[in-house]
Formats: sequence, structure tokens, C-alpha cells
Amino acid sequence: MGHLRPTPVAAALLPFPGRQPPGCQPPARLALSPPHLAGGEIEALRATLHAGWLAPAGPTPAAFEAAIGTATGFAATLATTSGTAALHLGYRVLGVQPGDEVWAPGMTFVATVAPAVQMGAVPRFLDVTPAGWTMDPGLLAEELALAARRGRLPRVVVPVDLYGQCCDLPAIVAACDRWGVPVLCDSAAAMGALQRGGRHAGRGATLAVFSFNGNKIVTAAGGGALASDDPALIARARHLAGQAKEAWPHYEHETTGYTYGISSVLAAVGLAQLPVLEARVQRRRAIFANYVESLGELPGLGFIPEPAWGRANRWLTVLQVDPARFGADREELRRALEAAGVESRPAWKPLHLQPAFRGAPQAGGAVAAALFERGLCLPSGSGMSEDDQVRVIDAVIRCAQR
Ligand SMILES: *Cc1c(COP(=O)(O)O)cnc(C)c1O
Repeated sequence: MGHLRPTPVAAALLPFPGRQPPGCQPPARLALSPPHLAGGEIEALRATLHAGWLAPAGPTPAAFEAAIGTATGFAATLATTSGTAALHLGYRVLGVQPGDEVWAPGMTFVATVAPAVQMGAVPRFLDVTPAGWTMDPGLLAEELALAARRGRLPRVVVPVDLYGQCCDLPAIVAACDRWGVPVLCDSAAAMGALQRGGRHAGRGATLAVFSFNGNKIVTAAGGGALASDDPALIARARHLAGQAKEAWPHYEHETTGYTYGISSVLAAVGLAQLPVLEARVQRRRAIFANYVESLGELPGLGFIPEPAWGRANRWLTVLQVDPARFGADREELRRALEAAGVESRPAWKPLHLQPAFRGAPQAGGAVAAALFERGLCLPSGSGMSEDDQVRVIDAVIRCAQR
């Protein structure tokens, strides 16, 4: 490929997202998961603006919600300003109160529990399984039995479909059903991921959350969704998302809400993206397979597993780096990639290790800690070219050989 190495300053100024520009400029910095246009976005935006719809009302958000329902199979959906907003609404409709416990895997992004903590709930972090990197249903069942004995069951259990890989939701729901605890599934990164029998990620939970942030597999430029097979829960969330206005001509409120409804402009972008979801999953899976084929033989490298029960969307390819066998640790590899103009990121730092949650109760956590210690996410954007991926692969191989 004969590419030049960008200076740190040039790399910082390089355009986003990464494509190799013509001429003798250094290659653009390759981003982890930049937005990838489907093609119909500008036309969809033009039509929405021409129709005069800008606010979080009108036909476009409704059409986006219907399309999310079609893509996921949920009976009821609410499109929101972000996945985090959808999580917040989920916690509200499930009645989380100050002092309530909310159980989540430690191995996740901070947004999974942030709204609950802001509501005064106490997070409790459960470990994940090495086989799937998601919430351990056996540990959950044991901890629920202990909590029942203490007389302090969690208000809600929040499993996560990590990096677009489905958690073992049927086992988690079965454990929670035993004690009547609802399940809010954080499927933010899992649009297009499937569980056993081809059920979409999140189905079977009381509520599920999706994100359409710019870095996710399909995007609305920013946005999210709350979904359920119980339309009453979504109706309640919709009420709260629109400032909890009661049905009066004047402004009447029995409680307080939020401005969490998605705007028509963002919904138009999301609506243009959903038709290519399956193609995006296929592309990300091919990128993952290519990484495994090109790097899988290197000593000391492992990859995020795919349990037999589902089909991950491979939102991000995540490596495990064994420093003794690979010859560099994950931070050295990250720096080598950065020097080659390639963005990579350590896997989520578990929440039980975050200063923000110091002192929060936990059950296990060693598996999650080890995944963080050795985990590195590689560029996985569906818009990435074959040359882009060769650049990443070359840089990893050079790092292993030095
Ligand atoms: C992206 C993400 C979120 C948050 O979604 P936003 O739309 O960015 O608010 C929450 N949880 C997980 C696991 C995510 O990956």
C-alpha cells in the first residue's frame, strides 16, 4: 500500500470519516465506527422539510416508529432523542424510586445505568460469562434468590447486548419472572442482531432500548427507541416524553416529563437508514470474519465470541490481547494503530471499576475486569474499504512482529 505515516498534528486535523484521499497526502485517520449514509437521507430530509414538519410531531416520527416495529417485531415503539433518553423513560415507566436497586452487567457503557443513578437508584453490577461476555444468568438467578431472602429484590434487571451481541435473554427473563422482576434490555448497539429462532435482540424483555447514535450500525444522526410488546408501557413513556401534558386545552400536569420525542428531521434520517440494516449487518459480519481470517493465527490474539444462540450484528470487532504471547499489551497495540492513523479503543471499562460508582454493590466482576484489561475495539464501520481494513491488519501484524 505504501502509505505515509501522518504526523500527530496532521492526524488530528484529518477529515472524518477515514478514506484514503487522492494524491500524496497521508491517509485519513480511520475511525472506529463512523456514520455510513444509505443514499436516501437527503431526499427524505427534503421531503420532510418541504412538508413543513420539523417538530417531534407529524407523520415522520410515526413512520420511523412503525419501521422500527417492523425491523424488530415489537408491538409498540417510541422514537426518542437518544438511547439514553429511552433508558431514562424505561426506568420511569418501571417505577424506579430513590434507593431502589437496579442490576446491570459491569461490562457495559455508562449510559446503561446513568439515568437510574441520576434518579437516586443504587446500581448493582453482575459479572458476565466468558462464553458470551454478557450478563451471567446463573449468577443472576443465585443473586435474585439471595436478594429475595434479604427482602430487597431489584426494581429492574438491565442486561446488555454487548457490542451488538445478544445476551441470553430467555434465561435472564426466566430468572427474573420467578420473582416478578421486570427486564429492561439495553439493546442500544444491537439493531439487526438476532436471538434463538431469529427473534430480534431485546424481544422477550419487558422493555428494550435501541440507539440510532451516529456511531451505531444504523443512525438517525442521533436518536433512540423504547420498545415493548405491552402498548400500555409505551403509551406511558410517550406521555412522559412529551412533558407529561394531560388532555386539557390548558397545560395540566399530574407529573413531570421530558422533551424526549425525536424530531422529524432526525426521524427522516433514521427512516432512510432502516432499509439497509440487514446489508449493514452482513458487511460488519464480513469485516469481523476478515479480521479473524487475517489475524486469528497471530499468537496471543482472541476475538469476541459468538454464542450458538444468536447472530451478532458485529457492531464492533473486539480483540483480546494476551501481552505475553502477542508481544505487546493492548495499550501498546492501540498506540501502534494510532501511529498508523487508525483509531481503536479499549473495551468498556467495567462500571464496578469506575470512580463514578465507587462503593456500588457487585457480584463477581473478574471476568469483566479481564475483558477490559485485554480488550481492544478495531475499526468496524460498514463504509470502510478493503484497503482501509488492510491498513488496520498490517498495523496489527507489524506490532506483533516488532
Ligand atoms: C450507544 C449506547 C447507549 C446510548 O445510546 P445513545 O443513543 O448514545 O444515548 C447505551 N448503551 C449502550 C450499550 C450503547 O452502546
